[in-house]
Amino acid sequence: MNGLDFRNQRTARKPLRAPWQCARMVVLLGPPGAGKGTQAQRIAAQYGLQHLSTGDMLRDNIQRDTDLARRAKLLINRGDLVSDEIVLGMVQDRIAQTDCENGFVLDGFPRTLPQALGLEGICRLYKSKSITVLNMVTEPERLIRRLANRRICQTSGHIYSLVDRPPIRPGFCDIDGSELVQRPDDTESVIRERIRTYERNIHPVIDYYSSRGLLYEVDAAGDPDAVTANILKVLERVKLTHQPEIA
Ligand code: ADP
Repeated sequence: MNGLDFRNQRTARKPLRAPWQCARMVVLLGPPGAGKGTQAQRIAAQYGLQHLSTGDMLRDNIQRDTDLARRAKLLINRGDLVSDEIVLGMVQDRIAQTDCENGFVLDGFPRTLPQALGLEGICRLYKSKSITVLNMVTEPERLIRRLANRRICQTSGHIYSLVDRPPIRPGFCDIDGSELVQRPDDTESVIRERIRTYERNIHPVIDYYSSRGLLYEVDAAGDPDAVTANILKVLERVKLTHQPEIA
């Protein structure tokens, strides 16, 4: 942990290099089950960006049994948020790596106003001006059904749905043959808590980006291909028009 106080956006650690002045940054907001992971993978592939999921980073720490994981695991398993300080430190370390130079898609981050302010501090350091925030909107009833039926490829994170997109061979990934697993926090009671936690924290984040003219709503209720089409339409439009600068 780097011990930075990210509530003050000007205290973010100075990077050794300032590589991503022209890089594109896409932020996906949306409740658990809105399909952020699936869409982030597709956007990343389309534009040559890195897919950065704070949930995946935390689960990777859990698998490696790091110090950070010991502080985060209990919170994750009961559907609470991990502290802003931990998550911001983790994100800043990740985007300092060279594979993020062309830009990245943030999935599951920021989830609180202090995280959004911390991200703004990081953007200032890197002089990044291109940020598009997509708010994936869908009805709450769909979320629980989607998550309870979600299975994930253990090796590469490819996402399946037992209902809408089942694998050809039950239990195994179509792409690399790895075993498909269910996340431990994809049980109904934890899913409900994750959705409540999301709702409790996200409104100031939405207001914050909306007031800066950076927020675009995307209808995330349809099938994944239709949602991707909605997203790409927005991203192409934004690319062609003036990007509001980070204030
Ligand atoms: P989902 O969006 O479906 O809840 P994620 O994989 O993004 O799934 O996150 C799983 C869990 O990891 C969250 O419930 C939370 O405990 C933790 N987490 C992920 N991202 C953040 C974040 N930005 N801030 C705090 N906690 C986070």
